[in-house]
Amino acid sequence: MELITKAPKGTFDILPDKSNQWQIIEMVMRSEAEMNGFAEVRTPVFEHTELFLRGVGDTTDVVEKQMYTFEDKGGRSITLRPEGTAGAVRAMLESGLYNGGFPVKLYYNTTCYRYEKPQAGRLREFHQFGVEMFGAAEAAADAQVIAMAVSTIERLGLQNIGLKLNSIGCPTCRAEYHKALKEYFLGYKEELCETCVSRLDRNPMRILDCKSPVCAEIAKGAPKILDYICDDCREHFEQVQACLKAVDIDYEIDTSLVRGLDYYTRTVFEFVSNDIGAQGAVGGGGRYDGLVEQLGGNPTAGIGYAMGLDRIMLVMQAQGLELPEPEKCEVYIASMNKEANVRAFALTNDLHRCGVFADCDLCGRGLKAQMKYANKIGAKFTIVLGEEELAQNQAKMKNMKTGETTSVSLGDNFVDEYITVVTTAEDLSL
Ligand code: AMP
Repeated sequence: MELITKAPKGTFDILPDKSNQWQIIEMVMRSEAEMNGFAEVRTPVFEHTELFLRGVGDTTDVVEKQMYTFEDKGGRSITLRPEGTAGAVRAMLESGLYNGGFPVKLYYNTTCYRYEKPQAGRLREFHQFGVEMFGAAEAAADAQVIAMAVSTIERLGLQNIGLKLNSIGCPTCRAEYHKALKEYFLGYKEELCETCVSRLDRNPMRILDCKSPVCAEIAKGAPKILDYICDDCREHFEQVQACLKAVDIDYEIDTSLVRGLDYYTRTVFEFVSNDIGAQGAVGGGGRYDGLVEQLGGNPTAGIGYAMGLDRIMLVMQAQGLELPEPEKCEVYIASMNKEANVRAFALTNDLHRCGVFADCDLCGRGLKAQMKYANKIGAKFTIVLGEEELAQNQAKMKNMKTGETTSVSLGDNFVDEYITVVTTAEDLSL
């Protein structure tokens, strides 16, 4: 077989043997978010490019190097979403969701697109589950979203996930910090990468998360934001920590944590695993009190996080965490001739209407091959229909585990009788 093409680099298919695991992870994330009053928002996979230029920040790696931007046939500049927050803010503002009162709590489960060099845990299409809370400026809101993420991680059974925490202050205190950073990095101007040199004037804080090893080494000695934050920001940060301590959430203050997107203010945090190699950040987030205004809304506090589902899957694999198997077929109705096949189809359909996982032959197989297939799909019960069964309107239903057979009517009582046999077997744990 010669395929005309393969999945693009940095993308992959989630196939049936894994999709069940994805569904479970997503279900846990959804249930945690909904328990905390968050409701789902689904936004377009592409947006006008200016949303990300303004929202994510035009000096960030994401905007400078990684966006999938193209001109559509109408000459508009369009970008595939590189992250979920900007789209959620736009949707909130455009729809007037804020009119319903604050806080507005939204979650999303989406694919994101970044043109990065693919490696383990770093993809060009990846999956994020994120939450965003608008209009809640109190430190308890920061702590609530962090606590939700911690609870999700615990419910998934992930081990050894560290929580890193920092405050990157507000635009006022950051001005002083920027000055100090610029001064420091100017001393290394010859060694910094080209992008970072251009960031010296525009946004020196971005140099702190440059991926180039040389810049990263220089960044280690840079001034620390916590030495520059104002009293209000310090008090907020202390309050966040008090809330986290109140619910026994362990964290480590990491003064080098600034996160890669420009919109963050005050609290930033990241969840990190040491079990999946260099790309160990499984999720992260923070407060973004200026973003709503920057995108055209009234000044509105914001806080959120995004978990990288691909990396969570990697951690689960690395830690050998087992997830429940998908449901198996409950009953397979085999048929020995065409007339019986129509009947098998109709009975299967009756079972489906009652919510029973049932199947019958759709491939014109002989009886032996059908039974082999029933075995393959894990059918707990089988029924075989032939001339005799149709004539008598009665068939034998076999419990594949015990070999026991029970007669069931193929008439109007079929589903009722079927359910009685199944529940009796379950009651007896057969
Ligand atoms: P960010 O929007 O960069 O804060 O990313 C949030 C989370 O998304 C990270 O902690 C990662 O788990 C995940 N993530 C970000 N970029 C990628 C990528 N290129 N491939 C896979 N996961 C990613």
